[in-house]
Amino acid sequence: VFQLSMPLNFLGTIYREVRQSLLDMEVLFNLQVENPPIKDPPDAKPLALSGAKISFENVAFAYHPSRPIFHDLTFTIPAGKKIAIVGPSGCGKSTVFRLLYRFYEPSSGRILVDGQDISRVQLASLRSAVGVVPQDTPLFHADIMHNVRYGRLDASDEEVIAAAKKAHVHETIVKLPHGYATTVGERGLMVSGGEKQRLAVARVLLKDPPILFFDEATSALDAQTESELMKNINATLLNHARTSIFIAHRLRTVVEADLIIVLKDGGVFEQGTHEELMLARGLYYLMWQEQQAADVSESPPAVVE
Ligand code: ATP
Repeated sequence: VFQLSMPLNFLGTIYREVRQSLLDMEVLFNLQVENPPIKDPPDAKPLALSGAKISFENVAFAYHPSRPIFHDLTFTIPAGKKIAIVGPSGCGKSTVFRLLYRFYEPSSGRILVDGQDISRVQLASLRSAVGVVPQDTPLFHADIMHNVRYGRLDASDEEVIAAAKKAHVHETIVKLPHGYATTVGERGLMVSGGEKQRLAVARVLLKDPPILFFDEATSALDAQTESELMKNINATLLNHARTSIFIAHRLRTVVEADLIIVLKDGGVFEQGTHEELMLARGLYYLMWQEQQAADVSESPPAVVE
């Protein structure tokens, strides 16, 4: 019995791990698995967290050698701070997350979390420290209970419901034909973009990670839903110290960030608070002006002069 159950347990663990990371990669980000699977170095230790300070040091990266994305990306996110990453479309904002999560490896340079090189720590421990609310949250063809529990597979029904309440999606769920047993996802019940994101927030709440990535939706949410969701996120996810990174497409949502990092031309173009960047009258200032012109029908916060 012992001989038989050992490998089965082992296979079970592997299966869970592989399934988890494949789902993460392919479903959450629509990525093809291109890279060879990442193996932990033999001396890898679990990531030891103390506040989750993140540093990118001289990181270079390209998906294809002919087209470098970063040539020297260097920045530091202090522990427990809320930062925003902005920049022109295609400058590599989402790639920052993919590198931190180790979907991809830098060709040179290092990424550190609390002083530890993430390529030297156990991958599973790194990934369990990072939660993400992706731009477009995929739902599995399964019931809502299962879809939210995906955030932490061993969560009880009560924990799932508590997370849904905090993410302000419980009220919507209980009104569905079968409540939490309602099937969603492909060919299941249609769920709006805003509801999907709230389900993603519930997932992340269950996971309760020390590092949070929020990849802001470009067009899935209207301005009202977006600002409501941001309020929920601020109230629920960020009520205790947590390093959070907002990949922002609409500058309106980044005004209150502790630090705004502007990416362009393969590195950090400029960084600072909203006020500092507005005073500097650089790229952020120009992007802000452009967005305001495009947003005339909505009412963005006042520009600091
Ligand atoms: P956006 O604001 O439009 O969402 P972004 O700043 O988040 O863009 P990334 O998604 O990080 O940009 O992509 C950076 C560049 O790398 C883009 O030009 C993109 O087309 C390219 N890219 C992204 N993923 C891959 C991939 N898997 N293979 C090849 N190129 C890719």
